[in-house]
Amino acid sequence: MVYVDAHCHIEDKAFNKNRDEIIERAKKENVIIITSGASLGGCLRALECKKKYNIYLTLGYHPSRVKADDKVVEKVYNLIKNNENEILAVGEIGMDIKDENYERQEEIFKKFLSLAEELNKPIVVHARGFERKIFDIAKNKVNIMFHCYSGDIELAKEIGRDGNLISISTLICFSEHHKKLVEELDLEYLTTETDSPYLSPIKGAKNEPKNVKLVVEEIAKIKEMDVEEVADIIYKNTSKFFKRRL
Ligand SMILES: [Zn+2]
Repeated sequence: MVYVDAHCHIEDKAFNKNRDEIIERAKKENVIIITSGASLGGCLRALECKKKYNIYLTLGYHPSRVKADDKVVEKVYNLIKNNENEILAVGEIGMDIKDENYERQEEIFKKFLSLAEELNKPIVVHARGFERKIFDIAKNKVNIMFHCYSGDIELAKEIGRDGNLISISTLICFSEHHKKLVEELDLEYLTTETDSPYLSPIKGAKNEPKNVKLVVEEIAKIKEMDVEEVADIIYKNTSKFFKRRL
């Protein structure tokens, strides 16, 4: 049985002291790791991690970095272009209602979206508060994985029906809204993630990829299915989405 952590940040500085251990623990539990670069430094470190640990990679630019100037955005853009064979997707990119300057966020998002189109890659998006907008902008251009989807159920159904993925994070361990999403959605629409080191299901501890097991277990409980069966479907959904056997 394998688990998939379809979105985390193993390159985050929070793991500088024990990254080897964290990866070791995940591999022991058969967790496939897809790490997501989200800044210039993060993308560079994520590329290193991919080589060192033999994990999967996406590269992007987080909407919270909206204040950065064009030079930095351009560097990330070129880094992605020059490493197209190293990545499964472009992301994490998107928009966040809790950050400022929506126009600039949208401009940066569209820049990376057109790069994904050019490279023929799917995108991994952070779309808090802008789920509808991001979906409408990107839906006819590329396939979209909504990382830590927190929007409404009706839109989630539309997203899933269109061949995209809704990623269920460790938030499901304590969030009624996320449990409800799983209850209402077809399992074929879903993947799983931790967003490590963020969104920890354990109070006071940093999140880590092995905790994706808890997400799969929770989904199995809600769907009244075997954990193994759920893990297998999630693996298939995710492989299909990224167009390769993970
Ligand atoms: Zn993230």
